[in-house]
Amino acid sequence: MAYPEQIYINGTVLTFDQEGTTAEAVAVQGERIAAVGSTEQLLQLAGPETEVIDLQGKTVLPGFYEAHGHFPLSGILEVQSAPLWSPPRGTIRSISDLLAVLKDKAANIPAGGWVTGFGYDPSKLAENRHPSRYELDQAFPDHPVWLSHNSAHMGVANSKALALAGITKDSPAPSHGVIQRDTDGELTGLIQENGALIEAHIPPLTPEQHAEGIRIANAEYVSQGITSAIIAVGIDPEPLVDAHNRGLLDLQLISIPLFQPDYSPEKVEYDRGPVKSQGSKLFQDGSIQGYTGWLTNPYHRPFSEDDPLFRGFPLQKREQLAQAVFAVHSAGRQVVIHANGDAAIDDVLYAIGEAQRRLPRPDARHRIEHAQSVREDQLDRIKELGITPSFFNDHVYYFGDDHRDVYLGEDRARRISPLRSAVDRGIRFSLHNDTPITPPSPLHLVSVAVNRLTASGRELGPEYRITPYQALRAITIDAAWQAFEENDKGSIEAGKLADLVILADNPLTVDPLNLHKIPVLQTIIGGRQVYAQEAAALSSQQ
Ligand SMILES: [Zn+2]
Repeated sequence: MAYPEQIYINGTVLTFDQEGTTAEAVAVQGERIAAVGSTEQLLQLAGPETEVIDLQGKTVLPGFYEAHGHFPLSGILEVQSAPLWSPPRGTIRSISDLLAVLKDKAANIPAGGWVTGFGYDPSKLAENRHPSRYELDQAFPDHPVWLSHNSAHMGVANSKALALAGITKDSPAPSHGVIQRDTDGELTGLIQENGALIEAHIPPLTPEQHAEGIRIANAEYVSQGITSAIIAVGIDPEPLVDAHNRGLLDLQLISIPLFQPDYSPEKVEYDRGPVKSQGSKLFQDGSIQGYTGWLTNPYHRPFSEDDPLFRGFPLQKREQLAQAVFAVHSAGRQVVIHANGDAAIDDVLYAIGEAQRRLPRPDARHRIEHAQSVREDQLDRIKELGITPSFFNDHVYYFGDDHRDVYLGEDRARRISPLRSAVDRGIRFSLHNDTPITPPSPLHLVSVAVNRLTASGRELGPEYRITPYQALRAITIDAAWQAFEENDKGSIEAGKLADLVILADNPLTVDPLNLHKIPVLQTIIGGRQVYAQEAAALSSQQ
């Protein structure tokens, strides 16, 4: 028998196995876990070459599983775009702040080159509105400009950008999304739910820039203990494979291709080592904080005074969604459907319900993404249909104050991401950061799930809090299960991949208010250390 290459001893190993066992030691052989048990037991497995690592009481968990995000966009944006975040994430408080940051960026871009920014939030700007095309024209007469809203569901273009995209006053309405016009029919520059109209005209990054973006994003994710991540709208795998081959990408990725009407699994599925594709992604609405989430009742503060009953809009008819869902469902695959507003969620439940009625498929694990404003009756139906939500519960912290004061009002805001209601029904779910919408930090998600505090420090729906253990399940074993990877990932058990994170403190016993501050000391993917906090070297003896 071969000896383990590493044995980690004297730790608190939270395994997240079926019984929720806590152990002291883990032995790793090759890319897999060889054994889990007490220090005494596992030391007996050591051979002459085995590296024994003394955890000194530190806590080991399964590597964190980021269930929905847009890897490597956070790194790409850092290479390409000016960050336009408002507090708590950044410093932008007004349109002039935003223009100043963009001007710095534009200083290095020759005339005619694109100036892009990402992450602005009108509700956090003193002017309480989107920047206008004219403001951007005045500040940047020589550059096309495209600014992406913090939801990534819309953005503002200046006149040069609109011209390059061929969008004029006389352009017909696009097949989906909205090109906003003022009362005279002039373009305002705002484009909702179809940023591709502009983005298709922005020249792609060079391969070197692309690789650098992947390297930055990978480093950011692994420093937060993430070992696997789902790319929630499929992207070209080539740059990822290339970066992996060059040693710039450690994460294991699943890419979920956007549904196409000619869907068949053979056309879209691949397994390329660091990245494989799986399932099919659909959208039924947009973003509540962008007024494109589709609600049953009107927004709290109307999007425009002319339309106080405005409640967002669906991105397609219910029957169209049902047809798409059936195509994927009947091929034996998983649907992954974005729905924030409760009216959009009603459509999703209808579509999946119809698919299951026509062709019952146990354990299909169809997903609802974000499910921000899911109602109690909808959770009953989710349980019945075996659907598994992935909650974007970071909203409570980053956008909770705005959901209460601007978009949803007190009653609806307090029950966004109602995790307690899901736990009570025995619904399995994951949590996600939706990076780059919020920074990649699974422990932050756990903290928000446990504390439900907004950025201003106010409680939002404390009755929907869950325990640290329940929240940790949603970033480990339940997220892996949701992605059909529970046989390889999500818990610390012999035979599974050695994807591990070593934390300075035990999240089950630390003060809940400090959960997000627990230092990540090491991240290990497939037995290989891919991140170590400086000065956190654990003593090892050969
Ligand atoms: Zn997303």
